[in-house]
Amino acid sequence: MSDAAFTPVHRLLQLGPLPPGLQREAASRYVLEPLWTQPEPARFLAEQQGAFDGAIMMSRHGCSASVIECLAAAPRPGVVACFGVGYDGIDLAAARRHGVQVSTTPDVLTDCVADTALGLMLACARQLVAAHRHVQEGAWLQGPFPLATRVSGKRVGIVGLGRIGQAIARRAGGFDMPVRYHGRSARAGVPYEFEPDLHALARWADFLVLACPGGPQTRHLVSADVLQALGPEGYLINIARGSVVDEDALVEAIQDGRIAGAGLDVYADEPRVPAGLLGTDRVVTLPHVAASTRETRHAMEQLVLDNLAAFFATGKVLTPPA
Ligand code: NAP
Repeated sequence: MSDAAFTPVHRLLQLGPLPPGLQREAASRYVLEPLWTQPEPARFLAEQQGAFDGAIMMSRHGCSASVIECLAAAPRPGVVACFGVGYDGIDLAAARRHGVQVSTTPDVLTDCVADTALGLMLACARQLVAAHRHVQEGAWLQGPFPLATRVSGKRVGIVGLGRIGQAIARRAGGFDMPVRYHGRSARAGVPYEFEPDLHALARWADFLVLACPGGPQTRHLVSADVLQALGPEGYLINIARGSVVDEDALVEAIQDGRIAGAGLDVYADEPRVPAGLLGTDRVVTLPHVAASTRETRHAMEQLVLDNLAAFFATGKVLTPPA
């Protein structure tokens, strides 16, 4: 699509800043109109009803019912192409109601997110960040680093045994870790035991790993009670969404030693992280980077473009949310 004579015909509403490669490539194929820099986005949407063929966004931008309604007013209800697999910020009910299609970027990020979950498990239990600092700051010259906690063979409870949850389970198998999982229902054809009671899973697990979607249905699924059940030897690992955990309860559980530690990639109000989760080696904090490798980000960008191309060519996106 580098042909200088090419004139883009489709107009896309851009809901926030995109990765540079995607921004460049999308701008070469479509006319992009930024929404987030408009002085009055609500008024802009009202004035531009039906003027767009679709929207392009990242998971964190969110896509409200008013954006969907703007797209639905076009002669053909448009498309929302999302960079990311989390659709908790997209008003899917409005999209369905108006016949607006939505695409996300599943599968291509699964391995990297699962790798990060294992990295957080190792970092928390083996105290890798503190051990690194021990060497860097010269403390090793004064004495050895304290003993840490074994990972291999420990029990992993996964909340949400979807694409990423199963990839975490496979990796846990490589560490000889027994796996059980919780979700809304048992999955056919998986070799792991289903646990319908989240508290029971937390009691059983040494690592409780969250890999379910965010949004109202899973909000504060991990409550003070669940953390209590995980117990003083247990670690919470969250690569899902910050909203899944009651963060106030997590801060208290960390401060009171009611759980051993936490490994977190996601938070309720990013990029703000509660002060109680900072300045302690019991918590390992990542800045929402589980999928952020060059290879995976490139594959995600390509899938956004492929979904848009498929929609405009056939009327159907390739990877809608389940
Ligand atoms: P997926 O294949 O759709 O899997 C989601 C799993 O969650 C399913 O097994 C589902 O099982 C379960 N689930 C749904 N609702 C639930 C509920 N109310 N309670 C418990 N479990 C529930 O999605 P995926 O590709 O694995 O991605 C999972 C999530 O990871 C995404 O939604 C996103 O938020 C997060 N993510 C984070 C990053 C990051 O950068 N940290 C990157 C990618 C994805 P049932 O339907 O049987 O309940």
